[in-house]
Amino acid sequence: MKAPNTRSGESRELVIRGAHVLDPPSGLDGMMDVKVSDGRIAEVGIGIRGSREIDADGLHLFPGFVDVHAHWRSPGQEHKEDIESGAAAAAAGGFTSVVMMPNTDPVVDKPIVVSGLAKRISEESRVRAYITAALHVGLKGERLTEMRLLKEAGAFCVSDDGLGTQSAGVLRNAMLYAKSAGLPVILHCEDHTLSTGVVHDGAHAALAGLPGIPASAEDVATATGLILAAETGARVHITHVSTELSAALVGFFKDKGDISSDTTPHHLTLTDELVSTLDGMYRVNPPLRPDDDRDGVGGALRDGVLDFVATDHAPHASEEKDLPLEEASPGFLGHEMAFPALYTELVTGGKLSLPRLVEAMSCAPGRWVGGSGSLTAGSPADIALVDLSEEWTVNRDTMASKSSNSPYVGKAMASRIVGTIVGGEIVHDIHDIFSGAKFGIRA
Ligand SMILES: [Zn+2]
Repeated sequence: MKAPNTRSGESRELVIRGAHVLDPPSGLDGMMDVKVSDGRIAEVGIGIRGSREIDADGLHLFPGFVDVHAHWRSPGQEHKEDIESGAAAAAAGGFTSVVMMPNTDPVVDKPIVVSGLAKRISEESRVRAYITAALHVGLKGERLTEMRLLKEAGAFCVSDDGLGTQSAGVLRNAMLYAKSAGLPVILHCEDHTLSTGVVHDGAHAALAGLPGIPASAEDVATATGLILAAETGARVHITHVSTELSAALVGFFKDKGDISSDTTPHHLTLTDELVSTLDGMYRVNPPLRPDDDRDGVGGALRDGVLDFVATDHAPHASEEKDLPLEEASPGFLGHEMAFPALYTELVTGGKLSLPRLVEAMSCAPGRWVGGSGSLTAGSPADIALVDLSEEWTVNRDTMASKSSNSPYVGKAMASRIVGTIVGGEIVHDIHDIFSGAKFGIRA
């Protein structure tokens, strides 16, 4: 939440010169200079000079990406990820703000856990990190958490992510309570009476002999969540939408309440065809879906029905993924490969424009958390510098995350995040741009 490594009293100025600056809501789209001063965007324009400059000719400069769905596994499962490595993975992916989910060990359902986490974030995270507290004690969907106290302790929003609330009546009460406490609700939509399998219930599950999860497991819960959001007026965000029908339901309800939604890089780029490998890597929840769902969700993101992308960054140790599908833990790494995968698959594939991708990864989620994802003067200096021409292959040994369970390992990528700045501080610099090795720096 706070700017990393703030050195108070020191006037820090940097001019990034000649990058292609893109910030769709501000109308910025072209070769420009960006001046950063004291942790904020001071000026964007042409011919800006400063005492400290870097030449970013050939690179693109976007507002830093914002990930509203991440599992940094702290507290309790630090062998998979911790705050420092989660933040490093985020920075390596161009993310400058991250929202952490509460399904940890212990669950983030008490003020003392929230305040402990907030302290660790301030000490260990080099990106901004927001805390999600549980909607119900132990994520059990029974007893409401003390949301007002959780908010006072530093919680930003509430969610039963990982499980979802099963009773509509219980969920309705939770929405009303969250609304009165002034906390947004992130909804993981899953009906457990339907989601009894391990992969999407379709031809590939049948061929592989694996128990299927029907799309209705998500769609029924999404419909319930949307109806209750419209009725209660609570601020509700539907996360990881993976089916064409759920996206259409979001479209129907969008203007009937304070409703927003996201989908993930993997649901936009991969399908359940990967189930035929029987590789535990490809188990994820919600599961990978058929082509029609992938394309339907992609169209909904393109058209703004779905507001933005969130990665559901879910690190797992290799012994939890190097297993048959039925036994593997569900989830993929998300931060580091999100932009390259979406750019490579959707933008160069002609399915999504670059401005819409930047809007969906920076501006829209930045508005959702408030005050991020913008390059207007006075905004926090949160920036992603990207080389759209760099080709590289994803290597599991060079991940910043503690884990390596990315479905894109071994895949060729057509763009790379080369620099990330949070509050004016350089938190990722893969080619030593800022130290002058590649482009030169004039101090
Ligand atoms: Zn979830």
